[in-house]
Amino acid sequence: MSTIELLPNHLGGQWHHGQGAGSTLLDPVLGTPLVRVDATGLDLAAGFAHARQHAGPALRALSYAQRADLLARAAQVLQSHRDDYYAIATANSGTVKNDSAVDIDGGLFTLSTYAKLGQSLGERHHLLDGESVRLGKDPLFQSQHILSPIRGLALFINAFNFPSWGLWEKAAPALLSGVPVVVKPATATAWLTQRMVQDVVNAGIFPPGALSVVCGSSAGLLDALTPFDVLSFTGSADTAGVIRRHAALAERSVRSNIEADSVNSALLLPDAGDEALDLLAKEVAREMTVKSGQKCTAIRRVFVPDALYERAAQAISARLAKTTVGNPRNESVRMGALVSRSQFEAVQAGLAQLQTQAQVLHDGRQHALVDADPAVACCLGPTLLGSRDAGPAVLHDTEVFGPVATLLPYGTLAQGLDLVRRGQGSLVASVYGQAADALRHAALDLADSHGRVHVISPDVAALHTGHGNVMPQSLHGGPGRAGGGEELGGLRALGFYHRRSAIQAATPVLAGL
Ligand code: NAP
Repeated sequence: MSTIELLPNHLGGQWHHGQGAGSTLLDPVLGTPLVRVDATGLDLAAGFAHARQHAGPALRALSYAQRADLLARAAQVLQSHRDDYYAIATANSGTVKNDSAVDIDGGLFTLSTYAKLGQSLGERHHLLDGESVRLGKDPLFQSQHILSPIRGLALFINAFNFPSWGLWEKAAPALLSGVPVVVKPATATAWLTQRMVQDVVNAGIFPPGALSVVCGSSAGLLDALTPFDVLSFTGSADTAGVIRRHAALAERSVRSNIEADSVNSALLLPDAGDEALDLLAKEVAREMTVKSGQKCTAIRRVFVPDALYERAAQAISARLAKTTVGNPRNESVRMGALVSRSQFEAVQAGLAQLQTQAQVLHDGRQHALVDADPAVACCLGPTLLGSRDAGPAVLHDTEVFGPVATLLPYGTLAQGLDLVRRGQGSLVASVYGQAADALRHAALDLADSHGRVHVISPDVAALHTGHGNVMPQSLHGGPGRAGGGEELGGLRALGFYHRRSAIQAATPVLAGL
């Protein structure tokens, strides 16, 4: 019997320990065991039924403003345990404080933002969608579209890189909509998600069963979904493919939102000027190193005019050279670890794949690790690759989920924009330049293939929110390869948790809606 603590799951308003040996979560820097998770033996069907039959009605008995109050209270509880969350992130994700903040404070900020947005919806129990419209000559009979909270539950299957933000960016709009939540965090970093759920559940803020967490294997979760449930998945394109083919989606029409991998770009416009080039170099280096490049939105491909290739390579490399890598507990360290040995190996394999067509411009292996044993720590210095030939498919198809980006030159702007689109649909592209007309043109050109276009000019150098930072006010998600999902975007996020319906009736009936 293992002496490593086994974290309980919460389902059906009760705590349950898994009945199997479980999986042990590790410190990716020290290699030490931390806690265990296990979902063996959970009665998923009963737990899900409890959420639908008890927690859902209790949540929907409240108005949007009342549920917004609950979100605000949950944010306060989480805020009071922030130090614990930072300690868990250091141990389990191997992140430095600034990188833990992206996940932890990013999650709290998003939750608080929805608490405020929810207040604006007031004491209502459903939402109107547009105005009523006449269906014939006589104005007495009209159609009014409404949005009603779904009566199912929301299952979240999340990725390892955002155990906090990934939970709250989904749970905030779901709970605000009146929909109970079951979250299944990625096993490698499940601890932080489990602890946050535990703290909020123990505070008794939401109705029993409104917030559940299942840690460990995903087996059986999709089987337990019924037609009025929704599924929000974040993770790799491979797992997304398996999920899309599952009977819950293919046969039972469970609504799904899929956020998958994405080969995001940064594009320096022609005649952008030196300041814009510096801004691009700064942002690329930041995106490569924040959370060791383990952000779905991180810049993977960097496009610059042919004549600026060398200068861009030098500017980015000079910034990367200053990055100290190693044990996040050492104050001099700026970049911690990859999340696990398997991620470390996956990044090495991805690098080797890219290197079949690209050269190393800045070698991450030159970074000696600070306070960390290279034989144990899953730490890797940032590596900039480059190729004078931007044509090979592997350079546009390969997402290396680590501190790696590839610099690529383009000829005409039209060719540059076409190269960006070879990512086959991405979460975000950033565009760097000076002239408003040129920036607007590029943004419009890229909008249909990107969930977000982040436009950076010298006048917003100190104001912009960052290429990879997902703000709750803006859409997160992307078409094509990025999964085709949409999250956040302010109150737009509530759409996923509501059903649109047209009520056709006499005007006095509609007037009371
Ligand atoms: P992953 O291996 O696909 O795992 C994602 C989640 O799916 C985990 O919770 C995993 O559980 C679960 N899972 C695995 N197999 C499953 C199955 N057959 N049925 C149901 N669930 C299953 O992805 P990851 O390695 O955690 O995350 C990295 C990837 O996520 C990257 O490609 C990144 O681009 C993408 N990502 C995208 C976004 C976005 O918003 N677009 C955000 C973050 C990350 P276990 O951990 O227990 O295996």
